[in-house]
Amino acid sequence: MAPSSVPVQPAVTFYGVRGSVPCSGPRYHRYGGNTSAVLLELPGRAPIAFDLGSGIRDLGDVLMKSVASGVGPVEIDVLLTHLHWDHVLGLPFFTPAFLPDTRMTVHGPQQPGRSLRDAFTGMMQPPYFPITPDEFGAGFAFADVGSERFEIGDARVLSRWVRHTDPALGFRVDAAGVSVTYIADHGPGCVPTDPDDFVPDDVIELCDGADLLIHDAQYTQAEQDARPHFGHSSIDYAVHVAAEAGAKCLALFHHCPNHGDDDLDAMLEHARDLSAKRNGPEIIAAHQGQRLELAPGS
Ligand SMILES: [Zn+2]
Ligand SMILES: [Zn+2]
Repeated sequence: MAPSSVPVQPAVTFYGVRGSVPCSGPRYHRYGGNTSAVLLELPGRAPIAFDLGSGIRDLGDVLMKSVASGVGPVEIDVLLTHLHWDHVLGLPFFTPAFLPDTRMTVHGPQQPGRSLRDAFTGMMQPPYFPITPDEFGAGFAFADVGSERFEIGDARVLSRWVRHTDPALGFRVDAAGVSVTYIADHGPGCVPTDPDDFVPDDVIELCDGADLLIHDAQYTQAEQDARPHFGHSSIDYAVHVAAEAGAKCLALFHHCPNHGDDDLDAMLEHARDLSAKRNGPEIIAAHQGQRLELAPGS
């Protein structure tokens, strides 16, 4: 189903599931190499996307086909976790942003001492890139977000700061009878005084009973132990967060580029074993192109 058509029930589609940097080659064939970009479709309203990694370009292509088929201009809100390259590099290649009739708002993290627009202008200008944010269509806007609650139409959004190497938000969307939480980059080791199994109240609040929790699962536990300050989670910690918060389904996400398909299969099996031992949530490993329909009230 094309995102601009009217979905009959809420659905999440993964356009990019990789962390750090896009990658390609045979070992990434099944899980995919595009960086973070996820679409949440909701009945009766415009879709919401999470992050602007390289996967957002494919979503742009889908939306452009919808425009060409006559469904009307693109409307989309984006919840942007932070400004690391792997979460923003797709924006200049998101073609609908340049159309005059598109209505698009990027709700992203407040930046110290400058606006979100100014931060993007700093990275989207020569000699880094030839296109600036001024070239987006008239309906394109940035919205500076902190730790707060706000609404996008009838969707209720909760944003909270999470532990990472630079200011980063996690989001929860409650709408159409479902709850989806997105915490792309989250590293417990960023606060060295936190015990290994500590889950901050803000993270519990984001994940509490969520129908779907999409969470950083970049590393094995051994990798996490070797680089605790890199700002990411082990699969063990991701399962722990989901179980502590009572999430119903955990999607392992932000896969490390060092991990090929077979590595991720093994990590998924390990995560499922961990969850089964503590009667935790269903576990999946997100893959590019995967579409999950969410049942309201499940
Ligand atoms: Zn990242
Ligand atoms: Zn990051």
